[in-house]
Amino acid sequence: MAATPLTTPQTPLLQKTHQSHAFLKPKTTFHCRTSPKPFSISCSSTIQDRPSLQSQSQDRVFNFAAGPATLPENVLLKAQAELYNWRGSGMSVMEMSHRGKDFRSIIEKAEADLRALLNVPEYYAVLFLQGGATTQFASVPLNLCQPDDTVDYLVTGSWGDKAFKEAKKYCKPKVVWNGKSENYVRVPSFDGLELSPNAKYLHICANETIYGVEFKNYPVPGNPNGVLVADMSSNFCSKPVDVTKFGLIYAGAQKNVGPSGVCIVIVRKDLIGNAQEITPVMLDYKIHADNNSLYNTPPCYGIYMCGLVFEDLLEQGGLEEVEKKNEKKAGILYNAIDESKGFYRCPVEKSVRSLMNVPFTLEKSELEAEFLKEAEKEKMVQLKGHRSVGGMRASIYNAMPLAGVERLVSFMKDFQAKHA
Ligand code: PMP
Repeated sequence: MAATPLTTPQTPLLQKTHQSHAFLKPKTTFHCRTSPKPFSISCSSTIQDRPSLQSQSQDRVFNFAAGPATLPENVLLKAQAELYNWRGSGMSVMEMSHRGKDFRSIIEKAEADLRALLNVPEYYAVLFLQGGATTQFASVPLNLCQPDDTVDYLVTGSWGDKAFKEAKKYCKPKVVWNGKSENYVRVPSFDGLELSPNAKYLHICANETIYGVEFKNYPVPGNPNGVLVADMSSNFCSKPVDVTKFGLIYAGAQKNVGPSGVCIVIVRKDLIGNAQEITPVMLDYKIHADNNSLYNTPPCYGIYMCGLVFEDLLEQGGLEEVEKKNEKKAGILYNAIDESKGFYRCPVEKSVRSLMNVPFTLEKSELEAEFLKEAEKEKMVQLKGHRSVGGMRASIYNAMPLAGVERLVSFMKDFQAKHA
């Protein structure tokens, strides 16, 4: 009897996978005898190799969005393969108990891998929270100081400014430097800063996503007992970082390490437990730390995705390797801009240009709409700059393949040749 094609609820997943990815090659044929009638399954979706960072399947675009942003293709495929039945549990991650043992194993593995990636010492807690990085603009002052305490903010872009404004509700923040009058194009020299000798913390935004300004080294708080706090939302896990320089690091996941809805906080344990009285339980680090981030309903699927990304980064050789790739990608894009004889321009001071977010303007700003339209035709999307800056912005996070940046650079050169 001829083999009957098998249709299961997974079939669309298998078919989709087969159609979509050039690196998935036909491999084997199974003969299944558990059914009353024998049938065979031709399995065409074995993942043979992780896709190289150079490659991208045909039916995906190059997504240059600032976040939520592109995710590693092999991570998406792994999630796809595990979506219907997570590791033999008979259910998806979205269906399992958010405090049950399976999910606990997921969050524990995610934490262990993140600790390995960033070399996070035991005396730091790692929290997976809801609410995005914006929630941390309030949580940080609520947890680290009392209403009358002074804290310092070094403002190198609009996210740092937003963090400062939120902190005003909960303590006495002081702006020690503000780059706004220069349109946020640099980080100041740390020598001349007038830091408060009694500030509980000094806050920086390690990478300003909108303006593309990135700290390459870090200031030391003016108060010897104060700590450095960093919003690392848009360069988290893009390079090695010495965690011990910071009292607290926070990062919304949706740029480099996962989907929106998860925010990661790495905080020195001795700073936990002194929250202001008005702190809602959902913002209190102690409650989250005591309950391994499971007290409030955790964003389970997001944490699972972050875990897959951390695993992938470790497989890539860790953050030293990731940084080399990011330097290469950013290097070719900045070079193309700088060598365009002014057709394209990046206003940011060279020493602090972001490896993640590359803002650039067109000398002939009337060509911007055409630039975006033509780029989209070549499957490069979300290149429009933030409305507060204008121009273009290419966000080239870890998961943006080198091929995406190469295609953008080649497009930019062609576009210039056409319009010069
Ligand atoms: N900080 C930085 C540096 C950001 O880029 C963003 C978001 N784009 C935020 C904070 C706010 O994050 P969320 O949307 O997760 O609240």
